[in-house]
Order: sequence, then C-alpha cells, then structure tokens
Amino acid sequence: MATPAAGIPVHSAVPSTTESLSPIWHPSPNFGPRRDGLTPSLIVLHYTAMDSAQDALDRLCDPVHEVSAHYLIGVDGTFWQMVRERDRAWHAGAGEWHGQNDINSRSIGIELDNTGRHPFSEPQMNVLERLLRQIMHRWAIHPNGVIGHSDMAPGRKFDPGSRFDWLRLERNALAGRRGDPEGPRDAPVDQFRALARAAGFSADVDDETLLSAVRLRYRPWGKGPLRSADLAPLTKQT
Ligand SMILES: [Zn+2]
Repeated sequence: MATPAAGIPVHSAVPSTTESLSPIWHPSPNFGPRRDGLTPSLIVLHYTAMDSAQDALDRLCDPVHEVSAHYLIGVDGTFWQMVRERDRAWHAGAGEWHGQNDINSRSIGIELDNTGRHPFSEPQMNVLERLLRQIMHRWAIHPNGVIGHSDMAPGRKFDPGSRFDWLRLERNALAGRRGDPEGPRDAPVDQFRALARAAGFSADVDDETLLSAVRLRYRPWGKGPLRSADLAPLTKQT
C-alpha cells in the first residue's frame, strides 16, 4: 500500500468531472450487447498481469482470446478505450456481487497495466481517479459500486491485488468506505460471512476463500485465522 500521506495533495488536485479526459480509441472485437436492458451499475478494476500495456492491448483486442475491457491504463498514464461504455465487454467472467451474476452486463471494466507484484504508479492512479469520476457521473454509479475482480470472483481471481491502494479511492469517494476500525471484538465465522455477504461478497465459496478475498480488498497484510480485524472493515459501510 502507498503511504496514506502521499494521496492527500493529489486529492486536492483531482479535476472535476467536467474536465475532458480523452482515451486513445483502439477498438476490440470482443464485446456484445448488454443483456436484459442492463446498464452499468458497477465498475470492476483489474490488473493485466502482463509485462507491458502493449502486450495487454494486443491480447484484449485479439479475437482468439475472447477477452476485453472498456479501458486500459498504462503505467505512464496513457490510456486506451477498447469497447464503448454502452456495450458489454468481456472482462469479469463467472462470479457474482450482491447476489447478482452476469457482471459483464452490469459493469464497466478497467484494466490497469500492472503485473500484480509492484505498486501502481502515480500517473496511472491519477488517470484512474479522473476516469472513475467521469464514469460514475455518467452512469450515476455509487462509490460502493467500484469493486475489484477478486471481490466478485473470490478464489478464482486475485486482481487488482494486494498492491492496489483501495484506501486512496475510499478517501476520494471513489470506492465504498470501509467500516469502523474498532469494529466487533469477537470474530465468529457466521458473523463474518453475514457481514461479507451484506457488503456484497455473495459468491458461494468456503470460509477460507472468502477470508482471502476480503483480506485482498481490506487488509492484504492479514495472515492466519479469522480475527476481529477482518470483520471491522465490513461493518457500517457507507
Ligand atoms: Zn481481472
């Protein structure tokens, strides 16, 4: 995680939603119509797990691989749009959030050029924040609707990973704020599962997989058995 102090001056400099932010249009053939008249209510964040943005761009636009995303943001802040927001990109796959599946029909997908093993660069985070603001404004998406791939596909996906600075997004109202750090004193697994489900983690997985997914999002440094600190971020979310 980046040090919290590093995000503060950047926060005040984040432009309003009225500032134009123009991606490079690089169309992918890998998309279709959103099903059942659905419109985006979620934004799913990913890392590419590839060595370069160009490699990721090639893959996300290759009909053989049948994957895509709406946007890709490079380490240096260069960013590309591959699928129109009104269309259904193929980035989320199997999984669910708040009991709902077909996340592709309900979401905008953003890929971040990162192997998963190193911090996310400042230019990349700055563009991500600006892009999130614009998408959230366009589709009236609540901060709680900004999630990680690992949130909706626990045990199957691990991105955007332990190096992603969720706290920075939360402080800027670009992701749902975590609950009271004091939280509950005990850590019964039933309560943990109930709190996780209420927060959106509804996929049918075992206790250990669920704990790993919740830790990836809120406390990736967490190890060992379930502790009260694992329940705390799931309480009183706003
Ligand atoms: Zn992903």
